[in-house]
Amino acid sequence: MTPDDFRKAGYAAVDWIARYLETIEEHPVQSALEPGAVRDRLPPSPPEQPEPFEAVLNDLDNIILPGTTHWQHPSFFAFFPSNTSPPAILGELLSAGIGVQGMLWVTSPACTELETHVMDWVVEALGLPEAFRSEGAGGGVIQDTASSATLVALLAARQRAGGIEAQSQMRLYTSAEAHSSVQKGARIAGFRDDQLVLVDTDATLAMRADALAKAIEADRAAGHRPAFVCASVGTTSTTAIDDVAAIGPVARKHQLWLHVDAAYAGSAAVCPELRFVNQGLEFADSYCFNPHKWLLTNFDCDCFFVADRKPLIDALSILPEYLRNQATEAGAVIDYRDWQIPLGRRFRALKLWLVFRSYGIAGLQAHIRKHVAWGRQFASWVEADPRFEVMAEPHLGLVCFRLQGDDAANDRLLDALNASGKVYLTATKVRGQRVLRLAIGGRLTEERHVHDAWALITKTATAQRLA
Ligand code: PLP
Repeated sequence: MTPDDFRKAGYAAVDWIARYLETIEEHPVQSALEPGAVRDRLPPSPPEQPEPFEAVLNDLDNIILPGTTHWQHPSFFAFFPSNTSPPAILGELLSAGIGVQGMLWVTSPACTELETHVMDWVVEALGLPEAFRSEGAGGGVIQDTASSATLVALLAARQRAGGIEAQSQMRLYTSAEAHSSVQKGARIAGFRDDQLVLVDTDATLAMRADALAKAIEADRAAGHRPAFVCASVGTTSTTAIDDVAAIGPVARKHQLWLHVDAAYAGSAAVCPELRFVNQGLEFADSYCFNPHKWLLTNFDCDCFFVADRKPLIDALSILPEYLRNQATEAGAVIDYRDWQIPLGRRFRALKLWLVFRSYGIAGLQAHIRKHVAWGRQFASWVEADPRFEVMAEPHLGLVCFRLQGDDAANDRLLDALNASGKVYLTATKVRGQRVLRLAIGGRLTEERHVHDAWALITKTATAQRLA
């Protein structure tokens, strides 16, 4: 591609994206293709000769889109949202265009310094503890995902608790409602499954601080070394919120590292009235949330903060000869390679910077507020219909509900809704019962889509009951 070819193809690609997003409602939300159907339509071997860019765009329309589940569809209510936005898409493009690899400050100072600066903006915009700002002992870094954030938090915790030598004695704590990435991180870090203790939850499915204290005391008495606790603010199943303000003092008393995973819910803190999600964060050694879920920033973007960066860097820093440079050795700069698992890193701060600058805090607040309001509205409709019940308090944009009756009736309802192509919902289990999850959080979702979803749910339930 010559520079002129690139310009032409680039404009065409942006046009394609703009048209896709404008017409996204014409597609069924969830792809209905059978396994293998996309590959069946692709040539078995790569082309011998170059092909025109238009041919690729055609194949996007004819092969890729039919096999796509449209996460940006306004009636996508499955899992948690995975927000994109025009400024963040352009941020990704600019990052690819500049093409730097920001492993060290010296490999591109702007890549590091913009990230440090934007992460300080995040602390201010979300009302997070000052200890997370970069001027002091702590600081923030963009990880690819919350899973990576939890893993590096665990490695820092292990470092502070005596390092690998002491690992076999260590105990880690979380609740059964925590995301599976906690268990996965523990396995990757080389902990046995029996070293991860699942602490009891209360009626709201939040971790019980008194049960945590008891478990820690029992483990200490048995000669184990309690080292790490992961609290969840907004669990994946139901957005249950662990009482971090009660868990924090327990962790402090026993010198455990407290990591708080607010992957989905953390974005809500951009609205001062929703800062219940920040309660107790002053006790946290580390914290993460995903702007790539609910803050209009394309995947991948997880904001990870530590109150003290030393144990993190001690755990992850190895300086081979080929990476030595004056700035690093003078200790005058941040080298984010020491804050993450891989060496190389993308210029992810660009998209978050563009999001802040394009929406402003006010725009981000409006985005979150409408979803929370519609979540409450939807829950009130469910409560008013005697055939249904709300299964967990809807704190934010997620509503968990079920049809009165057995699990099979709920499974049938979910299958029929998703097969319609008009909505996409997922399910979970709450206290052993099948529960449907409707997660409101898409940038393109409007009130009418939530309304239409409820109308479809009640109509489908009626039809199934009559059948
Ligand atoms: N933690 C929680 C509470 C989540 O809900 C999720 C995903 O939904 C994750 C962690 C994992 O997120 P990621 O895909 O960024 O690793």
